[in-house]
Amino acid sequence: MIILKSARELEVMRRAGRLVARLLEELGARVAPGVRLRDLDSFAEEFIRRHGGVPAFKGYGEIPGQRPPFPATICASVNEQVVHGVPGGRRLREGDIVSVDVGVLLDGYYGDAAATFPVGKVSEEAMRLLEVTRAALGEGIARARAGCHLSDISHAVQSFVEARGYSVVREFVGHGIGRSMHEDPQIPNFGPPGMGPLLRPGMTLAIEPMVNAGVPDVVVLADGWTAVTADGRLSAHFEHTVAVTADGALILTDPREEG
Ligand code: MG
Repeated sequence: MIILKSARELEVMRRAGRLVARLLEELGARVAPGVRLRDLDSFAEEFIRRHGGVPAFKGYGEIPGQRPPFPATICASVNEQVVHGVPGGRRLREGDIVSVDVGVLLDGYYGDAAATFPVGKVSEEAMRLLEVTRAALGEGIARARAGCHLSDISHAVQSFVEARGYSVVREFVGHGIGRSMHEDPQIPNFGPPGMGPLLRPGMTLAIEPMVNAGVPDVVVLADGWTAVTADGRLSAHFEHTVAVTADGALILTDPREEG
């Protein structure tokens, strides 16, 4: 069941989203050669708590016998890591790319966003992957408007990405978000247009293309979390939490939003 949010609820989600967006900006400014992922994570947790929020990923998602609860505040996924990288003692190196995913619970509502940052100077190939993935998110968001079907988002992302020679990950998808981090509907980054529920004002969606330079397939490492590309090539990830309104999509995790 897709839960519609009232104007009052959207206002709270906007505040949660802004906190996520500002933290992502702060983290992006700290990404540099030599920086330890664990230090980015500590900064993130302190930032969230100082602003009255709770890290949404920490302690999340245990599957007994398969994976432990996620141990950190951010997911930090370097190079061939797709999503759910666990920030540890690894230091970023010049030429790496790092995807940072942030989730926050604030006043009962969740915000969720991700961005992939270049570390120092990166290859043209890496930079193009980042630009295509960021633009694919924009294509998806442009379809998050009343009157579109859910899969119009999926199709827009997939066709944009594949036309540029890259592939979209199938195993992980975007999601509804609100009082829970993951609500209905699931939002794949692939599929035909015109399917699934009609989008209505009050729906809140986390749209998150994961784009691989090579094959779409991913493998989860022995830690139970870190997903890597099956062919070892680069992967990028951008995500925004958006609200469907009568006038189109409102990006709730936009750092340019005032307030
Ligand atoms: Mg998400």
